[in-house]
Amino acid sequence: MCFQCGTCTAGCPSGRRTSYRVRKLMRLAQLGQKDEIVGSEELWECSTCYTCVERCPRAVPIVDIIVALRNIAVSEKHIYDNHKKTAQNLYKLGHTVPNNDKIKALRKDLGLPENPPTVMANKKAMDEVVTLLKASGFDKIVE
Ligand code: SF4
Ligand code: SF4
Repeated sequence: MCFQCGTCTAGCPSGRRTSYRVRKLMRLAQLGQKDEIVGSEELWECSTCYTCVERCPRAVPIVDIIVALRNIAVSEKHIYDNHKKTAQNLYKLGHTVPNNDKIKALRKDLGLPENPPTVMANKKAMDEVVTLLKASGFDKIVE
């Protein structure tokens, strides 16, 4: 569907700050250049803001494609340490951002419980999260 007009790249905020060119990524995908894509830093420079999807004249599901490509990359062990740490937090805590002492003190000042009323305060729900992540193979990817 992509006819390489470049509208996506023209409006991409990530491309304004980096060498990332989403049009090029779509072209590589069209050409089946999997090895070049899964090993590239560019694959991770999209912030999934959806500006390109809103503007694409051919209604290419660009972000869906990027997510699919990222899934392929991770399944082939192309994952950055920081991304892995964030994923490990989800597996261990049910949140990608841990609740630390500073945040707990701020919450207390605001009259809130130290932990938010999410899986952090509900062991049964957290156990269910772990069960789901294990069923999907997520634990093996991030261990
Ligand atoms: S994905 Fe859409 S906006 Fe981007 S180059 Fe292709 S047709 Fe143009
Ligand atoms: S979704 Fe990604 S590729 Fe599209 S405009 Fe936003 S940062 Fe750029």
